[in-house]
Amino acid sequence: MDKKVISLYQQMNANACKNREDAQYWIYQVDSEIKRINGLSKRFIKVLFFNRYFNENDNLMRLNLLVNGKEVQQDQFSVVSQYRDPNVLGFLLEVDLAEENKEVEILSYIQDGKTVLLSGNYVPPFDVVEDEEKLRILQLYQYPNGEKEIHAIPVIEEDHWICLCGNYNPATDVYCKVCATKIDEAKKIASSDYKSLILNNINTVIKPDQNETMEETIERYVNAFHHKYGYEKEEIRSYIDAEKIRQHAQTATSTTAPASTAAPLSQDGAATGSSNKLPWIIGIAVGVLVLIMILSSSMTSYNKQKCYESGGLWINGGCEMFNDWS
Ligand SMILES: [Zn+2]
Repeated sequence: MDKKVISLYQQMNANACKNREDAQYWIYQVDSEIKRINGLSKRFIKVLFFNRYFNENDNLMRLNLLVNGKEVQQDQFSVVSQYRDPNVLGFLLEVDLAEENKEVEILSYIQDGKTVLLSGNYVPPFDVVEDEEKLRILQLYQYPNGEKEIHAIPVIEEDHWICLCGNYNPATDVYCKVCATKIDEAKKIASSDYKSLILNNINTVIKPDQNETMEETIERYVNAFHHKYGYEKEEIRSYIDAEKIRQHAQTATSTTAPASTAAPLSQDGAATGSSNKLPWIIGIAVGVLVLIMILSSSMTSYNKQKCYESGGLWINGGCEMFNDWS
């Protein structure tokens, strides 16, 4: 799960797309377009959607849709060029030229050969909080050792919650379906007091400088924090403890020391080189094989994407182009 999901959620909400909470595939944009093909005007509905768990591996085989009140099946999907991600897909549906409506909803889908019927509630419009600085602070102080990666500021509402991984969960789900974070943990993070997080950790942020006295360093940081966050200088200063700054600086250097002593390993590399050679060669061979496998499997989606980019339709493994003669 990454930042893409935030942008997809925002488009989905802005476009008031109709999606169900129990669906893995959510529509984020529907457009009606007219194209000239062989001198004839044809109308298409362009549907863009995404696998919201971001685990697509060509699992989706068919979407059963309700398009302007009629049931339609769709079995071909192309990667949306803007995202270049197998989880963000689209397709074109030809409709009657007079059909200006563009109401599309997913009724069910076939995934890995199994039909998934949808009966969940419609997803309500929901907020996604975007604040890079708050994200940075949460990551730095709530999970200082990288126990978890925070991709979104959690939001807890009565009927749903947004997890720190960015996934939307209905309120009935106690654990996030994507990263298994418990709603209680998301609640705790959502109610974080940023000011106390920043000030309580200030002594771990301040780095002594050889060219300054400790008092000069502290002064510099107090001014910087005042300008950045707007807190009163006296208040910032009340959290600062020169002894803690020194202690933290010492533990920081002692924990990073082993990394620099790792260098001698390469010095006796010549002696151990011959015995290391075989695994090294096997490693490269496996790497090449994996690369070939990745390349061959990605060719189809690459071609599909190229086809889609140029306004074509991907049909039976080939690209059918629109000849725009207008
Ligand atoms: Zn999650």
